[in-house]
Amino acid sequence: MALELTIHEVTERKPKPDYSHLAFGKNFTDHMFVMDYHAEKGWHDPRIEPYAPLTLDPSALVFHYGQSVFEGLKAYKSNNDILLFRPEKNFQRLNVSNKRLSIPEIDVDFMVHALKELVHIDQDWIPTKKGQSLYIRPFIIATEPVINVKPAEEYKLMIIMSPVGSYYSTSDQMSPVKIYVEDEYVRSVKGGVGFTKTSGNYAASLSAQMKAEELGYDQVLWLDGFEKKYVEEVGSMNIFFKINGEVVTPALNGSILAGITRDSVIELLKHWDVPVSERRISIEEVFEAAENGQLEEVFGTGTAAVISPVGTLKWKDKEITVNENETGKLSLDLANTIAGIQTNEEKDPFGWRV
Ligand code: PMP
Repeated sequence: MALELTIHEVTERKPKPDYSHLAFGKNFTDHMFVMDYHAEKGWHDPRIEPYAPLTLDPSALVFHYGQSVFEGLKAYKSNNDILLFRPEKNFQRLNVSNKRLSIPEIDVDFMVHALKELVHIDQDWIPTKKGQSLYIRPFIIATEPVINVKPAEEYKLMIIMSPVGSYYSTSDQMSPVKIYVEDEYVRSVKGGVGFTKTSGNYAASLSAQMKAEELGYDQVLWLDGFEKKYVEEVGSMNIFFKINGEVVTPALNGSILAGITRDSVIELLKHWDVPVSERRISIEEVFEAAENGQLEEVFGTGTAAVISPVGTLKWKDKEITVNENETGKLSLDLANTIAGIQTNEEKDPFGWRV
């Protein structure tokens, strides 16, 4: 049965927050998208309705066994255009997570359509200064009221949206981050759920993140969960190294999230004829390259910052500074080009802008 979107608009719009001081993910727009799942009906009753709290039974499965997946993407405004960046990729990835977490899959084309309607209705919430955007959070939770360990027979898919400021708070200049290479905790193992966006991955990462912050670092770089030898990814970014002219990023091996920015960076590097390889890379190789003067740039990629240059890497008792703690040329070119495609300031030869 074809899904039909119904729309119940608010009668009165909320006042907008101060767009010059936007805290990440604290203010939400007037509307949200909701769709229900029931084993007998499948996904049904997709609707846009006023943003409001939920009522759930305390026995709802999500509270107990964590059947929950989510996504993150952004909408931008340029003159009169409302723009999304590769939104179908986010719903495809949501289905990858769904499959692993035994959650019923969704119709990607319908979800892109529903998202466009939602963003359209709340378009006056999209901030327009450089670096600002409307952050979009689709998520699914298991709502069936039963505390038996099993795939739920009832779910809710929702999309909420929040105006956000530039990732770099002090200015619109990119500033290199300090990264702590975690060698006690691990994020994920092969066969686990590291390639999904499920909430437990993030809960399990918090203690390492707190430790890194206490030691004066911004974020954690995770190593593989087996030998703690090979580089995986940063807290919410994929990682790239430019070594002696070649760009290297860890291959997708089942424990790393397939970042949409990561994929876009690889495509763009190929388009520019910059050598790029996806392969296993050990942390030792990175530190050796630094000692030999061959580690030219390190940067993270993700929806939040697009490109985040890395200035410092700390692993065990060693610490290295990358590119004299300056943003490298390649990092800058990638950031400007991808952000330019997202906001209509650059040509989009790939058809990424929607
Ligand atoms: N890794 C993790 C663990 C993440 O949470 C994210 C953010 N979604 C990324 C990488 C980057 O992915 P993307 O480029 O799709 O935002």
